[in-house]
Amino acid sequence: MNVAVGAQTHVGRVRQRNEDSYLLEEPLYAVADGMGGHTAGDVASATAVETISNGARAAHPETPEDLAQLVTRANEAIWEKARSDPSLRGMGTTCTLLMIDGEGAHIAHVGDSRAYLLRDGSLRQLTEDHTLVERMVREGRLSADEAARHPQRSVITRTLGVDPNVQVDLLHETIGAGDRILLASDGLTAMVGANEIEHVLAEGDDPQEAADRLVEMANEAGGEDNVTVLVLHVGKEGSGSPPRHAPARLDTRPGADPQVDPTASAAAGRPWLRRAVWTLAVLIVLAVAATVTVRWVLSNSWFVGLNEDGVVTIYQGIPEEIAGRTFADEDRVTGIQEEDLPQSFRDDIEEGRKFDSSAEAEAYISNLEDRIQEIEEATDRPRARRQ
Ligand code: MG
Repeated sequence: MNVAVGAQTHVGRVRQRNEDSYLLEEPLYAVADGMGGHTAGDVASATAVETISNGARAAHPETPEDLAQLVTRANEAIWEKARSDPSLRGMGTTCTLLMIDGEGAHIAHVGDSRAYLLRDGSLRQLTEDHTLVERMVREGRLSADEAARHPQRSVITRTLGVDPNVQVDLLHETIGAGDRILLASDGLTAMVGANEIEHVLAEGDDPQEAADRLVEMANEAGGEDNVTVLVLHVGKEGSGSPPRHAPARLDTRPGADPQVDPTASAAAGRPWLRRAVWTLAVLIVLAVAATVTVRWVLSNSWFVGLNEDGVVTIYQGIPEEIAGRTFADEDRVTGIQEEDLPQSFRDDIEEGRKFDSSAEAEAYISNLEDRIQEIEEATDRPRARRQ
């Protein structure tokens, strides 16, 4: 099977480093999307690609089982590295490995990088994402549209390197002249819709142009992640020119810049850990926000109420109890007794009459005192006790 290949990878417009790697070594093609703190993501994806390349040179893969074996070895190599170096702990990578032979396309797959087939102008996804949202879609708990926008859409349920054993999906697809295959990391598929991908893949005869254009579109859409794209054009058996790219293995080693959030990244390969880290982070943010809000509210709140002895008092804070706690400090006890309150003030004060400043509270007390005095004068009762 004659195949022409185009490949492109890019750090994107948000990330500091490119943790994707790819393999282009006829008849093997792979995309690996690494994750982990510091340089660990790069190490994971590069290790996958190297291990597969070395394994293929030592024993030429022929069967789907051989392909799965290469991915399993890659898993073990990453796992061992992470075990022997604490700074690499938790690293992992996706791996979508394609082999093209006379039988067609064989794919060994783990994670959320994808393989697509374009045939007669229409695009079909060959691989199934190993992600939380994909599982929820399969279980009917989420629509495809909801999944595409879901905040946890990048939570991966299966990766290489985070466990000594890994389950590898094996797929087979009969292919023929005119078929086009795309391998891509989620930096493409999260940013560019299937319709646009289909359009770019279908047009033109140069796989490199298509690969370049797809990466460009991911970046135009925001470039939120590293993006890696391999485009294969399948030609007639034994015909045509050699592959556009001479067989070569390429892994995209990082430009050195370790400014990746190590907490989030280290957890990326372990869904439960990632969820725990996120939950904790959200709780901390909420607690801090709540404390700041409460302080702000309390420092800007006054009310007039009754103290335990039934004396009208100005408080700083709020009259309500929250979760059994009060948030009020005595500012001034006025000396006005509950029984002296005119009916028009009584209900308000019993509930706690609120003000935005201490001056407003004092003005209210002043009005109250005047009102009490008027009533006393009118009824000829003794003056209210004052301090
Ligand atoms: Mg990615």
